[in-house]
Amino acid sequence: MKRSSYCGDVREDSIGKEITVCGWVHSRRDHGGVIFIDLRDREGLLQIVFLPENKEIFKTSENLRSEYVISVKGLVRNRPAGTVNSNMLTGNIELVVSDLEVLNTSPGLPFEISDYVETSEELRLKYRYLDLRRPNFQKNFIMRHKVSSEVRSFLNEEGFLEIETPFLTKSTPEGARDFLVPSRLRHGSFFALPQSPQIFKQILMISGFDKYYQLARCFRDEDLRADRQLEFTQIDIEMSFVEEEDVMDIVERMLSRVFKVALNIDIKTPFERMPYEDAMLRFGSDKPDTRFEMEIRDFSQELKSSEFSVFSSVISKGGIVRGLCIPKGAGFSRSEIDDITKFVGEFGAKGLAWMRITDTGAESNIVKYFKEEEVQAIISKLNAKSGDLAVFLADEEKIVAQGLGALRLKMGKDFGLIDKNKFNFLWIVDFPLMEWDKEEQRWQSLHHPFTSPKDSDSLTKENVRTTKARAYDVILNGIELGGGSIRIHRSDVQKKIFDILSISDESAKEKFGFLLDALTYGSPPHGGVALGFDRICALIAREDSIREVIAFPKTQKAVDPLSNAPSPVSEEQMKELGIKIVPKPVVNTTKV
Ligand code: ASP
Repeated sequence: MKRSSYCGDVREDSIGKEITVCGWVHSRRDHGGVIFIDLRDREGLLQIVFLPENKEIFKTSENLRSEYVISVKGLVRNRPAGTVNSNMLTGNIELVVSDLEVLNTSPGLPFEISDYVETSEELRLKYRYLDLRRPNFQKNFIMRHKVSSEVRSFLNEEGFLEIETPFLTKSTPEGARDFLVPSRLRHGSFFALPQSPQIFKQILMISGFDKYYQLARCFRDEDLRADRQLEFTQIDIEMSFVEEEDVMDIVERMLSRVFKVALNIDIKTPFERMPYEDAMLRFGSDKPDTRFEMEIRDFSQELKSSEFSVFSSVISKGGIVRGLCIPKGAGFSRSEIDDITKFVGEFGAKGLAWMRITDTGAESNIVKYFKEEEVQAIISKLNAKSGDLAVFLADEEKIVAQGLGALRLKMGKDFGLIDKNKFNFLWIVDFPLMEWDKEEQRWQSLHHPFTSPKDSDSLTKENVRTTKARAYDVILNGIELGGGSIRIHRSDVQKKIFDILSISDESAKEKFGFLLDALTYGSPPHGGVALGFDRICALIAREDSIREVIAFPKTQKAVDPLSNAPSPVSEEQMKELGIKIVPKPVVNTTKV
């Protein structure tokens, strides 16, 4: 080994000692015959000094350029008074070079290695090896390693076994498109890359492995709108002989440990449990950000016979009216109100009703249609104060919830109501088992089809609309960290679910026959969960994008500019696989 210490690790206790460090030339300053270099490695920077007395080395040092790789030996000393840099962990000391070896050179860089340089994402990813040299990235990946080690230690101590499941497998239904891999030996057949290890982890339970985990890579061929990646890592867990609370307890304790180790934050357990219906009503979202109040209220009862027919007619047709109070929003101009109307319009809302709250009641062009007690009911239910703005949507429940939920978040952000230092964890429970897919005219599982209903025996096609699932999602500050469920462990129930989902016996047998068979051979009751590992790391690193904690991510356009993937393959390879490229089909945007 050429080095005795990392640059960033050298401290005052090395003063007077001779050490060897290796690293990259981060910056170079020529101060009247003395050359200073900040030498960088993954742990940080160390100032090294070349004095002119050491002629030969000094001469070589004059030719050192950014990102040259060098090894230097020398004595550590206190920096002279007045040159201390309190922003650096090594800011009190420096190394006076007595030996220098240039290990490699570098041409001029496409961008500077600094956390403060703005560069296009395309360029950053093309030169990802340089991008990753930024100090912030080095910190992020050291943290990511710490988090994964802690997750593993925790689960190992709890008696879990880490077991790998295959990448080359059969499609798992998690609601996205599959990545397919053609089989050379079985001409015309395809493997699917796993969207999750769901079926395999359930089979491991049937095999008796009782407590399983894996930091599992998952692949989902989705359009990369939000902050998603085609491949990502999840902390995948499955346990036998458990109820919801057992799985939730493991997750709570694991997250407490991780946040303590990574951020020295004590998180309060158990997390709040919030029924899905409550979350949708109060926050218009199944991943509510509870760091600020501004809750949504329902007025469908109070306003069902309102003279304001826009409201009462929607209610009479089975729709709802809900409202939100924007603190100090009475000052909004007409064009600002138009802007928020447009904003909720993106969620399908056809209009936005509003009232300015005043000392004496409310003001707007619709107030005249409301009885005094209706206005008072609105003010009191919204806890509105003079100077606030009450806004309302009337429509079918989904549109109202989504529109007001998104508006609530936007107002929370715009008005700076969100306390960035809060970590509000909560569980959403009591999800509906299925939802009606209008487009496809059939039921779809809200999670996946292996999720157990609350009462398996009484489930029928007729009562599926009101049947709840034994599922739970864990949310932090409005972001879904993960979710899971107690599974179906009886093949008759699993068959019933496929039937309600309109998956024919034939298709179920073809796709999941191996699971249905396995369930007949003494399957224990079991349940599990999966948490987005990249997302957790991004939250801990306080990064907005998971791309900042993934070493080699794809761009928003789903390509890797570093390796140039995806790319065409040779005629030879295609021939072996029996594949022919045909002109691009019209893209079908419905779910597969
Ligand atoms: N397989 C699920 C997912 O990937 C999680 C689970 O139910 O354990 O979202």
